[in-house]
Amino acid sequence: MKPTILDCTKEELSHVIAPPFRAKQIFKWLYAQYVDDFDAMKNLPQVMRHALSEAYVIMPLHILNKEISRDGTIKYLFALRDGKTVESVLLRMKEAQYGSDGALLHHAKYTVCVSTQVGCKVGCSFCLTAKGGFTRDLSAGEIVAQVLALKKDNNIAAQRRLNIVYMGMGEPLDNLHNLAKAIAIFSDEDGLAIAAKRQTVSTSGLSSRIDQLGAMNLGVHIAISLHAVDDTLRSELIPMNKAHNIASIIEAVKRFPIDARKRVMFEYLMIKGKNDDRRSAKKLVTLLHGIKAKVNLIYFNPYEGSLYERPSKADMEAFQEYLIAHGLLCTIRDSKGIDISAACGQLKEKVNQEIA
Ligand code: SAH
Ligand code: SF4
Repeated sequence: MKPTILDCTKEELSHVIAPPFRAKQIFKWLYAQYVDDFDAMKNLPQVMRHALSEAYVIMPLHILNKEISRDGTIKYLFALRDGKTVESVLLRMKEAQYGSDGALLHHAKYTVCVSTQVGCKVGCSFCLTAKGGFTRDLSAGEIVAQVLALKKDNNIAAQRRLNIVYMGMGEPLDNLHNLAKAIAIFSDEDGLAIAAKRQTVSTSGLSSRIDQLGAMNLGVHIAISLHAVDDTLRSELIPMNKAHNIASIIEAVKRFPIDARKRVMFEYLMIKGKNDDRRSAKKLVTLLHGIKAKVNLIYFNPYEGSLYERPSKADMEAFQEYLIAHGLLCTIRDSKGIDISAACGQLKEKVNQEIA
């Protein structure tokens, strides 16, 4: 199978195609003009267009299914070239605003949630993605293509900035090489120009890889899926906690290079009767002492056959109030797309059931 040209950083392309300014032109066609045919790259010599189409394909995926939520969230299921499927979500964080004369005051704000693997090796007990096991890593181009396809499908102008969160299917740090390449391709000024500081890598806590990502000094943000404050519960939820325990994650976070104005995000999945009590809130405050942290509380999103239950709104809010009263920034993740199989892995599962 031919590789996708989206796997290449501009630098890699400039080694393959001389002279180097051609790589810049190709990037503009791919990421600003959204062309899906090398022949449309009109400022390239015909022989070069031909050579490129012999060597590469452009899009390594296509839209298989999409669900649109009442709140504007759109969830996509993509088919890769080997028939495997992954999900991405387009979240509208803020609506566009217009003045009384109808003039546009603010553009809508978008965030794209991308997948990094087909399935996941980590095997969290609360996560639907984990149920299907691990199939394979996505290539850098397969990660990049999710954003390209979403922008194209929604007619989002090339120059419109958006944010990326690596919170779809898979554990990004388990595919660090391709993740780092995708971060570089996304942030290229001749491409999608999504600065690294607009990209957030969410990890279930492979502490040694957090160090490796930090050493690359890419400028991305990091979000830690903490979910529990003691190792017994965390190991029940996230089996690899036995190898990368809470203390090792906290130490790795302290070493991670963070922009002085920013905070490390800690995601805390609230599960009824497991980690939604006052004692856990108290322990969380102690655990995060000395870290510029922000806590994002997430309602557990039940699915058929899930082992856990959604916490009550009252417990969620009491937890949040306790953290805030003790000096932590804390938000409750609004359940965007709650009516359309919100949590990761759920659209894929639904389509599988429909196909079966
Ligand atoms: N593997 C990485 C990133 C992808 S998981 C990580 O674990 O951080 C994306 C997010 O979906 C994680 O924060 C995870 O906690 C959340 N998630 C998984 N299953 C969920 C469920 N059933 N309800 C709510 N959130 C869930
Ligand atoms: Fe993998 Fe993240 Fe799901 Fe855990 S929560 S199984 S790390 S995708």
